[in-house]
Amino acid sequence: MRKQIAAANWKMNLTFQQGEKLLDDILEANITLASHQYAIFAVPYPHLLMTRSEVDNARNYHVAAQNCYDKKSGAFTGEVSAEMIHSIGVPYCVIGHSERREYFNETNSQLSEKLNLCLENFICPIFCCGEPLSVREAGTQNEFVATQLKESLFHLSPEKIKEIVIAYEPIWAIGTGKTATTEQAQEIHAYLRYVLADQYGADIANQISILYGGSVKANNAKELFSSPDVDGGLVGGASLVASDFIEIIKALK
Ligand code: PEP
Repeated sequence: MRKQIAAANWKMNLTFQQGEKLLDDILEANITLASHQYAIFAVPYPHLLMTRSEVDNARNYHVAAQNCYDKKSGAFTGEVSAEMIHSIGVPYCVIGHSERREYFNETNSQLSEKLNLCLENFICPIFCCGEPLSVREAGTQNEFVATQLKESLFHLSPEKIKEIVIAYEPIWAIGTGKTATTEQAQEIHAYLRYVLADQYGADIANQISILYGGSVKANNAKELFSSPDVDGGLVGGASLVASDFIEIIKALK
């Protein structure tokens, strides 16, 4: 079975102490994950090491960075490289979250550089894609997300593309309380898999986990994750509440 993943995205929330308490509360629930199930915490940079040591002894619990820079190293004050993230034992990194695309003007080609640097440094990128409301209303969401995939991912070899995770996050559903319906999520996830299969073949496409993100909550996770092409979720708001995220982890297939 493909990896099924509940990924928390804390964004720029929680002090170090609040983050530590949240992780303690979640880990105390002692949810045993099956070999194909993963819980990943994408936390702010200052919390990475603490989170890594919190999850170190829990099977299939991992830490992720929320971003990295698109250059190897150098005079880029305030930026953090993939190599630095790897050097502290962080195995995942979110790439191309819509907030980074929108507020920091990150482009598909910059994101392809970030992906390369992550993969060179043995970091699994969680690559985000998804359309704004205007595109959904125009009915052109498939073309929009296919272009995001093509421009950022399709330079990767078949061996490398298998190492990434994709998160489909319709922008109109992020932080809005408005969730895609189970049918809408399944439909576009299946389409993304078709686009991947067209480029890399069905065997490879079937190995790539595609997460859904956009107002996943404790009370809708099970239904969303039940769709055959939805392999878990990338979760913002509800990942900041221990009892909610515990239910979301339990909702994994
Ligand atoms: C996100 O941050 O990626 C996200 C999906 O946020 P929320 O769950 O709050 O919509």
